[in-house]
Amino acid sequence: MKPLAAARREVLSAMRLLPVLEVPLDRAQGLALASDVIAPHAVPSFANSAMDGYAVRVADVADPPVELHISEDVPAGHVASGSVRPGSVIKIMTGAPIPEGAEAVVKVEDTEPVPGGRVRIMASVPMGTAVRPAGGDLAEGQLVMPAGVRLGPVHLGVLATIGVSAPRVRRRARVAVLSTGDELFPADAQSLPPGGIRDSNRPLLKGLLSDVGVEIVDMGIIPDQEERLRAALKEASAAADVTVTSGGVSMGEYDLVKQVLSSLGDVGLWKVAMQPAKPFAFGLIHGTPLFGLPGNPVSALVAFEQFVRPSLLKMMGARALFRPRVPAVAGHSLRTNPEKTVFVRVVVDLEGGRMVARSSGGQGSNVLSAAAVANGMAVVPRGVASVGEGEPVAVEMLRSPETRREEDTPDE
Ligand code: AMP
Ligand code: MG
Repeated sequence: MKPLAAARREVLSAMRLLPVLEVPLDRAQGLALASDVIAPHAVPSFANSAMDGYAVRVADVADPPVELHISEDVPAGHVASGSVRPGSVIKIMTGAPIPEGAEAVVKVEDTEPVPGGRVRIMASVPMGTAVRPAGGDLAEGQLVMPAGVRLGPVHLGVLATIGVSAPRVRRRARVAVLSTGDELFPADAQSLPPGGIRDSNRPLLKGLLSDVGVEIVDMGIIPDQEERLRAALKEASAAADVTVTSGGVSMGEYDLVKQVLSSLGDVGLWKVAMQPAKPFAFGLIHGTPLFGLPGNPVSALVAFEQFVRPSLLKMMGARALFRPRVPAVAGHSLRTNPEKTVFVRVVVDLEGGRMVARSSGGQGSNVLSAAAVANGMAVVPRGVASVGEGEPVAVEMLRSPETRREEDTPDE
């Protein structure tokens, strides 16, 4: 048995980086930057008002209330034609450039209109009040995002701000996915023959893949027939950057995948010291990595998380390959296996200032419904003989705890 960390290192070292290209912002979410992004100009590029109000000289409003002449109005997107001269103000809107001569903005709430183009200023202001200085967000030449950042919605907004409309990123991986097994039928099968089940792994894996942001090539269900499987794997490795299969990698008599794999390329059947998902096939078919995940759905999920997800992120140039791990305490004793790394599907909740992890239900590798309830996987390392109630355990988070429902949203 290979220890998990060593197996993962071996898998990751076989991953090649995908090519770099420029992708428009509206197709770049989930992709990783291929080079550092440097600010080409300061942001904001000009000093502007943080408030709707009046641009003033500080000395003019030092002793409020005081009535001053409004020389002009500047809405956002316009520039004042004149400057703020002593005894006058310029009416200014949020985002409009600070006029020459202005030293601060008095917000509109601290003023009263006076007929005849004048305003009464009710408050004094220190220099710079409600002025957003040029470069207050980003300085020209500053590192905005390093290579390897995976672009999320906020990154896209920042890139737009600095005029990067098509960032340099690594291409989306194309991933072929197929299920193997004579017993499998698609989800829309209305009735099943004796011994038949519905294929849960393909929807599961496609969902996991789309969260990683890859392009999916769905190759369907392949029966346990050597020639069909060989043809499908050849086609998959030609069409995609990575092939992900499920089923047929255990020790069973009908497990063809491993035979077909060894005839097609440099693929091995591994026993990884982890629970679930011990059997796992990995290798290259004509240079295309193949991940042969176990058939039991929970095993497929865990093996995907431990091997496939970080591998795809590496290929796509991401610098963070792994899910966040949070320190939690066990809410009750957790399953252990001194020989293997055990992944316990758990629900993690914040209780009294600590994260508490409790089993999400049945831990059998076929019990997918309990994995659906889980928001994390507690990682019980090899060599650990027991994790009792209240003892620390690391949890790899799959999603955030659902601590807030509409009815218990605090008054903030
Ligand atoms: P295998 O690894 O092919 O021996 O399959 C192990 C177990 O997982 C068997 O009970 C299979 O019926 C089940 N299984 C395999 N593939 C799938 C799938 N795509 N969806 C649901 N269950 C599956
Ligand atoms: Mg099978």
